Amino acid sequence: MGDTVQHELVIIGAGPGGYVAALRAAQLGLDVACIDREKLLGGTCLRVGCIPSKALLESSALYAEAKTGALGAHGIGFDGLGLDLKKMLARKDKEVKALAAGINGLFRKRKVTRYEGHARFVEPTRIALESRDGPREVVAKNVIIATGSRPATLPGVELDGDRIGTSTEALAYPEVPGHLVVIGAGAIGLELGSVWSRLGARVTVLEYLDRILPGMDAELAAEARKIFARQGLEFRLGVRVTGARKTKNGAVVELADDEPPVECDRVLLAVGRVPNTEGLGLDAIGLETDGRGFIPVDDAYRTGVPNVYAVGDVIPGPMLAHKASEEGIACVERMVTGYGHVNYDAIPNVVYTEPEVASVGRTEGQLQRAGIDYRKGSFPFMASGRARALGHTEGRVKVLADAESDRLLGVHIVGPRAGDLIAEAAVAIEFGASAEDLGRACHAHPTLPEALKEAALDVARRAIHI
Ligand code: FAD
Ligand code: NAD
Repeated sequence: MGDTVQHELVIIGAGPGGYVAALRAAQLGLDVACIDREKLLGGTCLRVGCIPSKALLESSALYAEAKTGALGAHGIGFDGLGLDLKKMLARKDKEVKALAAGINGLFRKRKVTRYEGHARFVEPTRIALESRDGPREVVAKNVIIATGSRPATLPGVELDGDRIGTSTEALAYPEVPGHLVVIGAGAIGLELGSVWSRLGARVTVLEYLDRILPGMDAELAAEARKIFARQGLEFRLGVRVTGARKTKNGAVVELADDEPPVECDRVLLAVGRVPNTEGLGLDAIGLETDGRGFIPVDDAYRTGVPNVYAVGDVIPGPMLAHKASEEGIACVERMVTGYGHVNYDAIPNVVYTEPEVASVGRTEGQLQRAGIDYRKGSFPFMASGRARALGHTEGRVKVLADAESDRLLGVHIVGPRAGDLIAEAAVAIEFGASAEDLGRACHAHPTLPEALKEAALDVARRAIHI
């Protein structure tokens, strides 16, 4: 073993959970180090997740607007539309690198020590680090595990890192596939399926359940499915994939129940993600994972092992970057100040399709199952002046409020810039607002948030424009 270094806090993983925790710990005066085995900081989210996918979603949406004639409705026409995929992919890579360099800069500014290498527990506060420069030992008073997640696999689906791959490959296909089969109609399947469909691929989405986007409000997910189908995504719901293998020129996906196999050029497997705990030495410190491989924690993010904490995708809960970051901050604040928490009722969830699907709080199905009496307001973007000016009138806002107290319980949006609109609803829920509070607040005209105000007013059947 090489030299031993010592810190007050060591964080394993530099994704949005780990790197944000490191920056907050440094602000609070801790001597903190962050270990990641990848050269680029930022984790899954920055390297092969949120940011590259959003870069491609943006580029492909611009291309689709031009190609499908949507710009023509504005009186804008041109000849010779072209697609330079190499350039589109290079722009995405450039933005990723710039943001990763930004985190490096923040680490330097806040004096966070950075180690590049694979971390493995030897003891709860003693970590073996395998790096290119050889082995080393890192000792700390406290350790936070923020090792994130990786794509789930499916028995029989033979991933080859090329024709049959995960989101990582689908962020960098070298050419537009003729026919792409997506397994799973969750956030990844719909976002990356949309990217390649807009760029010209035929996209077939195979989903085990009888609906898309499980976890999102069922009514709005059904509305979104119709819109995506009109855009050209082919959905086959209620089908069970039993295997996928490479063929001479492409791939074939096999289905259960005598359904005929589907031939295609590429397969994107997007059936969820699993926590990263392998090779971490959890056995050595007696830390047990739950039945699904997640690390159980208490409300201060303490694991069952003293001085060892965990946050982000590696613990139970929604696998979202902002959830990981909030947990990283709360964990460090609890450790240093004794205060800090995450309100899990106010975590927004956004799918960046066109239109976007966004949600915060509880769905109608969850309220019904919990026996909570609620009232519902709704407002279509068709009736929004700003949506019409934008030329994006599909979708609606739905507001759910407690029938007795009028407290906001959930807000669900399918529509233009829903991911930005949901922020207001998240703040309102965080502050315990009622639907009437939201409906009475003055909203600038003409803006998309007016649709939120109107849906809130509709809870008491007082919407003005419907
Ligand atoms: P991660 O970001 O996974 O980071 C963990 C880090 O730990 C990694 O860098 C890994 O290399 C490192 N590591 C693991 N084990 C070790 C070890 N033993 N030693 C050293 N280093 C180790 N979420 C959103 O909120 N919005 C989105 O738009 C969004 N889009 C996504 C798109 C895609 C295609 C994917 C795949 C995911 C997306 N997500 C999105 C989910 C989001 O990326 C994750 O929720 C988030 O990255 C979790 O953060 P984390 O810090 O817990 O883990
Ligand atoms: P997901 O859990 O969102 O969706 C997976 C889908 O695959 C589900 O609809 C599920 O029913 C289906 N499925 C499971 N097994 C199947 C089978 N055998 N055959 C057919 N369908 C099957 O998972 P994902 O889309 O892979 O995303 C992984 C994680 O990353 C999610 O937790 C998500 O929150 C996160 N993510 C978030 C964003 C975002 O916030 N915009 C974007 C991408 C990913």
